[in-house]
Amino acid sequence: MSKEPSVLLSGDRQVGADLSAWEQAGGGAGLRKALSDPDAILAVVEASGLRGLGGGGFPTARKWRFVAEQGGGTDKHLIANANEDEPGTFKDRVLLEQTPHGVIEGALIAALATGVNDLVFYVNPREEAAVATMEQAVAQWSGHLLRDDVEESLARPLRLRVVPSSGLYIGGEETAAIASVAGGFPFPSAKPPYPAEQGLHGEPTLVNNVETLANLPALLAHGAAWFRSLGRGEACGTKLYTLSGDVLNEGVFELPMGITLRELVDDHGGGMLEGKRFKAVFTGGPSNTILTRDDLDVPLDWESVKARDSHLGTGAMIVVSEGTGIVRRVSEYVDFFAENSCGQCPSCKIGTRQISSLLQRIDTGRGTRGDLDNLRGLCAMLPGSGRCGLIDGAVTVVRSSLHKFGGEYEAQ
Ligand code: SF4
Repeated sequence: MSKEPSVLLSGDRQVGADLSAWEQAGGGAGLRKALSDPDAILAVVEASGLRGLGGGGFPTARKWRFVAEQGGGTDKHLIANANEDEPGTFKDRVLLEQTPHGVIEGALIAALATGVNDLVFYVNPREEAAVATMEQAVAQWSGHLLRDDVEESLARPLRLRVVPSSGLYIGGEETAAIASVAGGFPFPSAKPPYPAEQGLHGEPTLVNNVETLANLPALLAHGAAWFRSLGRGEACGTKLYTLSGDVLNEGVFELPMGITLRELVDDHGGGMLEGKRFKAVFTGGPSNTILTRDDLDVPLDWESVKARDSHLGTGAMIVVSEGTGIVRRVSEYVDFFAENSCGQCPSCKIGTRQISSLLQRIDTGRGTRGDLDNLRGLCAMLPGSGRCGLIDGAVTVVRSSLHKFGGEYEAQ
């Protein structure tokens, strides 16, 4: 296996909460570079091609620019989002436990670029070790010279804090995260207004996934061209791929953006479990699409996966083998979404339960032609009807399974 570039999870940077060990491993260099010319940060991030790595893939610099352009009369907030809770997704936990200072240094760089002065590290409380590590790590920046330099550059008091989320899946959606940090139930809200204009306490707010932030120290230290060169082809940087399911080695792998699905499964996952044959992969987690054996050579980057009518999402890849019933698996995922709907939108509250019940009937051999027609009808009707993407995610996985494994539905 070739030696792959590692930015986030390289051995010498896996120092946990120890700030001096982080600095000995080169930590702080990116922040120092950023401090030397804060006005240049946005252009570097833009040139790097960095995109939101929590699932959305929105260009990071564009998101930052919206916040940077907001007036400076009020506080501005950053929510570093680590509320991951989807089946098969656990990269943020690994990142927080192993390199929390990469996330904090990245958040300080984001603060310099956008004028944000309230840095909130929003962590799923079920990940107790991650919460504890982040709390220890944040405490170590108190009174640190670089932190003081950022404060001086911003010309306003800087606040760093860890806020445990509600632990609810829906709390990872950005407007829900804002509601949760404000002390309320994590109900997603309609946009506009966008968080960049009216977010936490009605003030400008940037919500970034922690993996996105963790890339910034090395990106600033080595430059945009270096960052781009880490990816394959046109893809930029590296990605934390979370591999799980019927492979020998489950885990989180930092690999070049654009590595193929086959390389991920065979070279890094060690191949399929003994006696198992690859059937499909739920790409980007359960709220996404399915790739099959025909897609094994697809590069796992934003554009290549999109060209297959799929989405890279969080980079979670759940591998299933021949013999796994796709209808049963999709039914389990839709149950997860039905249980995690916040219930604000009737189409989501009722629609996910209707889909769930149709899938259960079909999976257990009680389905009729009418059930299948109703399922297809709901898949056509429901997308876009909710305040957040939960309902769309639930429908996406069903539609993809109907498209790729329609025969299994017909055969039930
Ligand atoms: Fe809540 Fe579902 Fe509406 Fe999202 S789409 S706000 S989860 S009811």
